[in-house]
Amino acid sequence: MSNKLAILPGDGIGIEIVAEAVKVLNHLKANGLDIEMTEAPVGGAGYDAAGKPLPDETLALVKQSDAVLLGAVGGPQYEELPRELRPERGLLGLRSELGLFANLRPAILYPQLAEASSLKADVVAGLDIMIVRELTGGIYFGQPRGIRDKDNGEREGFNTLVYSESEVDRIARVAFDIAMKRGRRLCSVDKANVLEVSELWREVVTRAGSDYPEVELSHMYVDNAAMQLVKWPKQFDVMVTKNMFGDILSDAAAMLTGSIGMLPSASLDADGKGMYEPIHGSAPDIAGQGVANPLATILSVAMMLRYTFDRASMADAIEAAVGRVLDRGLRTPDIMAEGCEQVGTVEMGEAVLTELAA
Ligand code: NAD
Repeated sequence: MSNKLAILPGDGIGIEIVAEAVKVLNHLKANGLDIEMTEAPVGGAGYDAAGKPLPDETLALVKQSDAVLLGAVGGPQYEELPRELRPERGLLGLRSELGLFANLRPAILYPQLAEASSLKADVVAGLDIMIVRELTGGIYFGQPRGIRDKDNGEREGFNTLVYSESEVDRIARVAFDIAMKRGRRLCSVDKANVLEVSELWREVVTRAGSDYPEVELSHMYVDNAAMQLVKWPKQFDVMVTKNMFGDILSDAAAMLTGSIGMLPSASLDADGKGMYEPIHGSAPDIAGQGVANPLATILSVAMMLRYTFDRASMADAIEAAVGRVLDRGLRTPDIMAEGCEQVGTVEMGEAVLTELAA
């Protein structure tokens, strides 16, 4: 039975960059990848087509798919809509409907782009970290929450940071499994010196680790992790952490690379079904101009092959092709550097295809 893939380009540059990723998928399909692709609207495009950001037909499609490739959603023309109709609601709906609890955010810096980082080239060149963030629990979802009146007349805001053992165990196992496919080092980030939730987190992660004797497990407080990420990021292989810490650390790690158009991401459910997307948004400022960098989306396809379809050699081939394109000096404007040749979205996609076919 062929693998089912839902293609959701979304809005803005999403349409342009997903088109290039689909060319890569078609090439792989012609070379042995058993895959069936169906396209559907989401975000603003969903609202335009069916009056809501996550149309029923799109939801039905993603539910019966093995993986989802998403471009990006959002645009200024949708900003005045009521909150529940805004494009971003389509994304949140996808995450919760699909039970995507594990967010994988690699921070990879191709050596050819080391100058794009705000850190010294030797600190970041060749950086390759995977941050595994718990996505559906913790303080963003914990109850009770709200803003209430106090007896003295002022108001107070409150949220609840809560994690059950099973929630910690399942995200820990995702991270251990990924570490097994990489450098076999896992750093669990917490705040166990202050928070009881973190005390339990550390205990459960350590316990799960006994099933992964080949993975070297370490623990780090989140404040130290933030410092170490900017001091010597290459010390990390895989990091695992709760929702809020992961939100912050993964953005910091992404920015170490200095190139938002290069970074893919994945969100997985309990069975390895995943949604794959670039970390950037719909970039309305450059949409329709043919200059968006499609590499983050093409690298999202590589993640999909590795984590959902178990085709690591195809994933390696895509990543190597991207490396060779950069070696040839081809750059979209966002990663342009002296002495390189500037190309547009389509030329960049074609160049990856050429290298892949070579
Ligand atoms: P953005 O990521 O879209 O753009 C930030 C900057 O990076 C812009 O200058 C843009 O031109 C540039 N950029 C982004 N991707 C690029 C690429 N592939 N190639 C070249 N340059 C690129 O963030 P924003 O401007 O804050 O948001 C724009 C819209 O996207 C908003 O509607 C926002 O809600 C939405 N958004 C969507 C997602 C998503 O779909 N996952 C994520 C973030 C923002």
